[in-house]
Amino acid sequence: MILDAHVHLGEDVVFDEVNTEEELIQYYDEFQVDGGIIQPFIPRPYIKDHQDIHDRIAKFCKEQWPRKKFFGMASINPHFYPEDYYEEARRCVQDLGFVALKITSIAHACHPSSKDAYYVYEVCRDLKVPLMIHTGNGIPFADPTSVYQGAKDHPDVPVILAHAGSESFNQQARLLAKKLDNVFLEPSWCGTNAVKHMIEEVGCDKILFSSDNLDQIPVELAKYRQIIKNEDDLEKVMWKNTARIFNLKL
Ligand SMILES: [Zn+2]
Repeated sequence: MILDAHVHLGEDVVFDEVNTEEELIQYYDEFQVDGGIIQPFIPRPYIKDHQDIHDRIAKFCKEQWPRKKFFGMASINPHFYPEDYYEEARRCVQDLGFVALKITSIAHACHPSSKDAYYVYEVCRDLKVPLMIHTGNGIPFADPTSVYQGAKDHPDVPVILAHAGSESFNQQARLLAKKLDNVFLEPSWCGTNAVKHMIEEVGCDKILFSSDNLDQIPVELAKYRQIIKNEDDLEKVMWKNTARIFNLKL
């Protein structure tokens, strides 16, 4: 089994990216990936646009099940009024069955240890779902060190560092994952050597295969297959950690 912890659907108004349902089906079939966790590309900053893309993700997950095991991750602008943020997060988790929330520090212009980010942590705690936070490009907000205080103050909320700091900041991501039990690494876009160091320092229980970009799927798969020779460890990284951390009902 293979599950991708970081997949996008929709249109991104920050990075001008587009992924359609048809493309997702084509790529996940071609590379024999069994499913993953789908989050929105960044919509316009209106609650209606957030609701629409979340509904679209929920519909796609339902249509594909059980042929592909897709789950939803809500990505809501942390600067919305708290009551609006909470209601959309609650709707996604309790009504649509989503399994996590996301802060894209660079695109949401949200420092991951700011007051608004702390509110997101509280919502995650209340709804009992993990929080994925973008790290890497977009310094200083996306520096993994910026995640430290928030993750430390919410030890019961699992925090997944998307891109594990990317190439330039993976050292900081490794330090965080080593120091805090609730921090996990999602190393999409990191090179093989960076990932090798992650495995040596934090072990295979804290690392999650993910692509972020459809053309990146075969590259990411090859990366782990090259570095991890132990079959049990490979299974953990390819899907078991994702299933455990996001509490997936497979
Ligand atoms: Zn992404």
